[in-house]
Amino acid sequence: MVKLSCDNYGFDCKFKVNGSNSDVIKEYQKHSIDEHGIEYSIEVLTKFLLRMKN
Ligand SMILES: [Zn+2]
Repeated sequence: MVKLSCDNYGFDCKFKVNGSNSDVIKEYQKHSIDEHGIEYSIEVLTKFLLRMKN
């Protein structure tokens, strides 16, 4: 289980997602495109999740 909060990216946004790595990445990609107009690659999000665990 991993979790990701949008405000960790520096957005003033309450969006949070948790689940498996692939679920979080998929959900967050959709959210960032829909809400922020930014498309993050899977590679970028994977690195971000790995960094957050440490
Ligand atoms: Zn957001």
